[in-house]
Amino acid sequence: MGIKTYEDYYNRLLDMKPNVYIDGEKVDRSDPRLQPGINVIKESYDRANDPEYEDLCVATSHITGKKINRFTHIHQSKDDLLKKQMMTRVLCHRVGGCIQRCMGIDCMNALSVVTYEIDEAFGTDYYKRWEKFLRYFQENDITGNCAQTDCKGDRLKRPHEQVDPDLYLRVVETRKDGIIVRGAKICNTVAPYADEIIAIPTRFMTDKDKDYAVAFAIPGDTEGVKLLCRPAYQHKRKKLDAPAAHLGDVESFTIFDDVFVPKERVFMNGNEDPRVTPFAGFLALLFAHFHRHSYTGCKPAVSEILSSTAALVAEYNGIEKEKHVKEKLSHVIGVAELVFAAGEASAYRGEKAPSGTFIPDEILTNAGRRLAGEEIYNEYKTLADLAGGLSVTLPLEGDFYNEETGELANKYIMRNPNVSAENVHRLFRMIEGAIGSEIAGLGQVAGLHGGGSPQMETITMMARYDLEKLKSIAKYLAGIEKELPRYTRPTVTPRAIIERFRQMYPALVKK
Ligand SMILES: Cc1cc2nc3c(=O)[nH]c(=O)nc-3n(C[C@H](O)[C@H](O)[C@H](O)COP(=O)(O)OP(=O)(O)OC[C@H]3O[C@@H](n4cnc5c(N)ncnc54)[C@H](O)[C@@H]3O)c2cc1C
Repeated sequence: MGIKTYEDYYNRLLDMKPNVYIDGEKVDRSDPRLQPGINVIKESYDRANDPEYEDLCVATSHITGKKINRFTHIHQSKDDLLKKQMMTRVLCHRVGGCIQRCMGIDCMNALSVVTYEIDEAFGTDYYKRWEKFLRYFQENDITGNCAQTDCKGDRLKRPHEQVDPDLYLRVVETRKDGIIVRGAKICNTVAPYADEIIAIPTRFMTDKDKDYAVAFAIPGDTEGVKLLCRPAYQHKRKKLDAPAAHLGDVESFTIFDDVFVPKERVFMNGNEDPRVTPFAGFLALLFAHFHRHSYTGCKPAVSEILSSTAALVAEYNGIEKEKHVKEKLSHVIGVAELVFAAGEASAYRGEKAPSGTFIPDEILTNAGRRLAGEEIYNEYKTLADLAGGLSVTLPLEGDFYNEETGELANKYIMRNPNVSAENVHRLFRMIEGAIGSEIAGLGQVAGLHGGGSPQMETITMMARYDLEKLKSIAKYLAGIEKELPRYTRPTVTPRAIIERFRQMYPALVKK
């Protein structure tokens, strides 16, 4: 069976060579600063082994027919997309934030479509290589990350125009048995506790950027890979243990210092075959697309964690029935439901790509993700607003247990007389983590930029949306046009995207 346990995963991490750097120190994967992030990934293994969650967290592999962890599954149907979305929501509730394992599988789904398309176009064998990797990925319940975001240097310049050519990850040499890559990827969640780092391009590439059209997967401790890591967690607790206290995240600035990637792990290489270069942008977009669909599962969960905490603190503060409280909570709840509904509807309107992978609708997924990104700071504001200042000025835990100050601290933290001092303390300790900790700062920026900044969703949507069709309504109402063509809702089906790309690439590809 392709479902492993947390112990299997953790033991693999312990076997990896140390190439994690934290604050100037080189450490191995047992470093306690990585543990809060590893705790989050643990949930994805534990629930796949929990019969109560099997319907969501276990899938059937389309290549082997075996039971596998859904975080290693390639979506074959609308139902798969819906289950992935709900699994993401449910697991995020359980860990108190981002479940972190979606990037790797979103990237694998994108690779399934794009490697297939490249092979269809040029008779190459990228899909076969990728499928072999998928077997290994599923059989061993591998945790992968997605290293997409390049350093990018001057944002307005293309990769080949940068002063330093290494500001986007590139192939510096193609050998018979593989490639040498140089560059760095930034903002890499999970990298120090991923088995595999999966690198893909970040944007469309022109003919002159062919060396940057590269995708591959390598073990996280491969020679030459240096992970400069920034852990984010909360104050360590001594007394009041709670699920939320274990949440953490580690971001990596991942440097590829002339790293060898064996040929069987290379899934796109414009340096060897420049014809594949236009597919870099297609892959970048498709990963973003799958990842934005995952966001329609995780972001509602984050909104619900914030709104549930806000509702509880309002009760503890005695203001629960106030009109402004209801209005503020209903806004957050409404956004969460709309974002989730956009993801659900995009699954219903999805389609199978020629590779067999099921892809959600593009306009809806982007509209949902953008709404989530635009609302994130407002949601944190609602919790901060209803909780009051103690959320970030709460005395440290020890003062509540100190012989001299403990009783006094508990006396003065009381609000609603029906709620014990310990429960008020517990709640504010959690709120401190949710809005005042390092992980809270990270969560806010992740909610804005993760999966692409709202501006990126706008660009994608408007590249697809038929504005002329939209204007026809106004032209009819103003009497400029006599007829109004019957309305059909704006949708861009995955088939249409692929067909458009298939038509586009002969013009883009230099034969
Ligand atoms: C917590 C967190 C986790 C993340 N995890 C991952 C991960 O696991 N893997 C991964 O690959 N990435 C990850 N990301 C990166 C994320 O995808 C990027 O942050 C996002 O795509 C924005 O890119 P950037 O950070 O380089 O910002 P920039 O692209 O520099 O954006 C900054 C601003 O500049 C604008 N801008 C940028 N380029 C242009 C242009 N050409 N013209 C006009 N305006 C422009 C943007 O719209 C934005 O307003 C993560 C980010 C965060 C915050």
